[in-house]
Amino acid sequence: MKSLDLIKPYFRENRTVITFGMISLIIVDVLQLFIPRIIKWVVDDLTSGQTDNAGLLRYAATTVVVALLIGLFRFIWRYCLLGTSRRVEEGIRNHLFTHLQTLSASYFDRVRTGDLMAHATNDIQQVRMATGMGLVALNDAVVLGLAAIGFMAYINVTLTLLVLIPMPCIALAARYFSRKMHYRYQKVQASFAELTEVVRERIAGVRVIKSYGLEKNEVDRVDEFSRKYVKENLGLVKITGSFFPMMFLLTNLSLAIVIYFGGRQTIRGTITTGDFVAFISYLGLMTWPMMALGWVTNLIQRGRASLDRLSNVLQTQPHVVDKPSAKLLPKVVGEMLLDNVSFAYNGKQKSGYRPVLSSVNLRVPAGTFLGIVGPPGSGKTTLLNLLPRIYNTTDGRILLDGNDVNDIRLHSLRSHMTFVPQEPFLFAGNIRQNITLENPAIAENSLMDAIDGAALDETIRTMPNGLETIVGEKGIVLSGGQKQRIALARALLTPAEILLLDDPISQVDLETGTRIINTLRSMAGTRTIIIVSHRMSAVRHADRIITLKDGRIVESGDHNELMTGNRYYAGTYRLQEIVEGWDAN
Ligand code: ADP
Repeated sequence: MKSLDLIKPYFRENRTVITFGMISLIIVDVLQLFIPRIIKWVVDDLTSGQTDNAGLLRYAATTVVVALLIGLFRFIWRYCLLGTSRRVEEGIRNHLFTHLQTLSASYFDRVRTGDLMAHATNDIQQVRMATGMGLVALNDAVVLGLAAIGFMAYINVTLTLLVLIPMPCIALAARYFSRKMHYRYQKVQASFAELTEVVRERIAGVRVIKSYGLEKNEVDRVDEFSRKYVKENLGLVKITGSFFPMMFLLTNLSLAIVIYFGGRQTIRGTITTGDFVAFISYLGLMTWPMMALGWVTNLIQRGRASLDRLSNVLQTQPHVVDKPSAKLLPKVVGEMLLDNVSFAYNGKQKSGYRPVLSSVNLRVPAGTFLGIVGPPGSGKTTLLNLLPRIYNTTDGRILLDGNDVNDIRLHSLRSHMTFVPQEPFLFAGNIRQNITLENPAIAENSLMDAIDGAALDETIRTMPNGLETIVGEKGIVLSGGQKQRIALARALLTPAEILLLDDPISQVDLETGTRIINTLRSMAGTRTIIIVSHRMSAVRHADRIITLKDGRIVESGDHNELMTGNRYYAGTYRLQEIVEGWDAN
């Protein structure tokens, strides 16, 4: 896709409005050119003494009418053209966001949030500027510029040619400077992305910074990036700062030419005094198109570069996609089968294939409860992520009710699974919205059951506004355990046949944890439940427990079977029993 194709549809869609805007813009240009004509007539009439009060009044009235018309049509073009550029901006933003949502988890592993934010703000703004003011400046440079030259030539060709001598210099200077500006601007953009990311990270990690007393270091670090950003901006200012005075100098050179040569022609009587004054006015009108010429190249270049960057993001293909032949799976019982599954985050690259999971074979019958334990980094979370195809397996197959997950439409596959991640994410809003995800179909009693099941009832009772309590940045700060339980209640409300839970009781006390596990156990036979946990109490009642180590299944069996040996499960279980003091029976 050529990047220009990105904006073409919006132009096509708004064709009538744009045409209307362009016609209004051209009318404004023509009317502007009319004013020097009025000045010429007034001056000529005055110098020849041919005018009276009524004549002057007529000229004055004409000027007011022209000014009113200019005002009216200027409003129309601004409304139409700048309005369209806002619609282009909106369209690209929606397109970008929709596309980002289709991209796979691996893309977000690679790309920094700050970069994406810069695309969503700066780049889109640049495209808006180029399609709005860029179009206006281009039109003015061409229409107003050429028409002014035409009107000047109508007065006197020789003088016009003389005045035009500095113009190629203006064009060349504009070209040179705009190229430099573009280069500088890119550096500013890159530095802005870095700065945004650094600040975002520090705000997200403010608790760690405080607890380690790193405030000073972090302020210095942000300052370092701020200074770099200022430096890059100053670099840009140096260029723009020399560009505009240079333009000013060159246009005034033309004025000097008119004063000298035009003055002489007036003395000689080749042109009238009115022509001389009108000529200077036309020159004044030429200044903007000349500036516009420089500006527009700059605007369009910036817009083009931003459009290229946006188009790069939009061209990124998600790794996890529906095959054309992928099918819907309306009903499932919920049996999961992993057939020789291997996975590496960087895929099967020749240089360093580092599998996180190796040859995992596993069958989870429908309606059963599987516990996954193992040391940190053994691949437990990764394994959960493979089931709803957050990532694709590198080797081997995963089957849901005997269907390869790659042959099922993603939307359909994921509708059968609910995944509660280790670090749940809450949206800005109240607790109710966060649990129901604003699904109006959820009945109040199912909501209460889910809250009960997630052992969240007591917590909500103590909240100032109960379910309506606002959480997150603008409200109450929740503990990790409370967040976990909100995410769990959210999951319990979805009718998915398979429930995937990543360490769901890692941040709650023993009693609450037991309540949650009892809720999950009560679902035996109705839902397939797969729990990753480092707390053995969460999985001890599971139908089957597997231990992962370095991406391989090293133990498998129910609690009693695994307790017979003295391997990872049994060892950790006994240790936790002592440390946490829970009752093994
Ligand atoms: P566990 O859940 O058992 O603690 P994980 O599945 O989270 O283990 O991680 C297994 C391995 O994969 C670790 O070595 C970890 O560093 C690596 N890993 C996890 N997530 C990613 C990722 N997004 N990109 C690259 N490597 C990852």
